[in-house]
Amino acid sequence: MTIETFADLGLSENILKAVNEMGFEKPSPIQEQGIPPVMQGYDVIGQAQTGTGKTAAFGIPVLEKIDPTNNAVQALILCPTRELAVQVSEEISRLGKYMRGIRIETIYGGDSIERQIRSLKKGVHIVVGTPGRVMDHMQRRTLHFNEVQMMVLDEADEMLDMGFREDIESILKEMPEERQTILFSATMSKPIMSITKRFQNDPVLIKVVRNELTNQNIEQVYFEVKPQAKVEVMTRLIDMYHLQSLLVFCNTKRKVDEIVEELQLRGYASEGLHGDLRQQQRTNVMSKFKAGVTTILVATDVAARGIDVSGLDAVINYDVPLDEEYYVHRIGRTGRAGMSGRAFSLVARDEKYRLRQIEGYTKVKIEKGVIPSFEDIVG
Ligand code: ADP
Ligand code: MG
Repeated sequence: MTIETFADLGLSENILKAVNEMGFEKPSPIQEQGIPPVMQGYDVIGQAQTGTGKTAAFGIPVLEKIDPTNNAVQALILCPTRELAVQVSEEISRLGKYMRGIRIETIYGGDSIERQIRSLKKGVHIVVGTPGRVMDHMQRRTLHFNEVQMMVLDEADEMLDMGFREDIESILKEMPEERQTILFSATMSKPIMSITKRFQNDPVLIKVVRNELTNQNIEQVYFEVKPQAKVEVMTRLIDMYHLQSLLVFCNTKRKVDEIVEELQLRGYASEGLHGDLRQQQRTNVMSKFKAGVTTILVATDVAARGIDVSGLDAVINYDVPLDEEYYVHRIGRTGRAGMSGRAFSLVARDEKYRLRQIEGYTKVKIEKGVIPSFEDIVG
């Protein structure tokens, strides 16, 4: 069976509702391949670049497996830094928004240990923490692992780089024998292989592989932009280059709706295309765009799949895609049939590494562009 949607992964209604609310339209490749074996109870090694959705790849199965009526720590997730621990914990809370009674605690150094101890005493189901502070609690006997069923090592390569190897090994030794161990890492090194050999049981290796590359003769430019300025920069580009027919890509459905509204407020003929629209609405949106009644179509990757619009002036990546292949698919929609095309990417600081990954993947340098000034537009 091919997996197209989160529902195809057999997730519970509560999770599907949360995922939908978060605007995730389709599982990313690591989610598509990683969620089933983790749900089935296998030990898993997941290798994928940063920003590819690894948190939900383990967060969703963790949530599905927690028994909220059992007042004990059932999952332990180790992360390299407090920032990552907080991020992971927040993402899991959002994913678990509709699951009643699940308690998550984030444990890291620098935060009051007394507060953490009080919270742990009340009973938590999921602990997300940095190795040092988790060790600390372990030694104080304020954290008990005897009912842990799932252990996740997130960003394992970074944890090792930061010198957490001994702590991680001590923690792993305290875990019940009968448990599932999941390890995520962007890279695979000898020390990581040695951890998996010692602490994992016949792990399934999931590596997000990169497929075919369709490179076109398209002018690829990126603009470094603050997230809140993206719409402004986009409208300047539209004005400066007199773009008449434009496809804008966002990573989530919610973003599509937001951008369409902002563009309409600014007087641009724009409509959105995403998976929540009924077939009739989609057809209407498409025919208006093809007829040139709307000039800007804002879409998610899934919704845009299979649509064929000739004569696009440009593709704008409002968000840098989570997957390098999406980038190739997105920009491949312009510059068809020998016509010239432009691909502009609006890149916030925290998206820059993903742009670099895309460059590494496509082997094409994406030039940095200068944001048009007001004078550029009126003059
Ligand atoms: P990684 O751990 O691989 O670096 P994250 O799990 O932090 O990546 O995800 C990166 C970003 O992508 C987060 O903002 C997350 O909410 C978002 N995201 C994750 N999965 C999806 C999805 N299927 N569709 C859209 N956005 C997603
Ligand atoms: Mg991560």
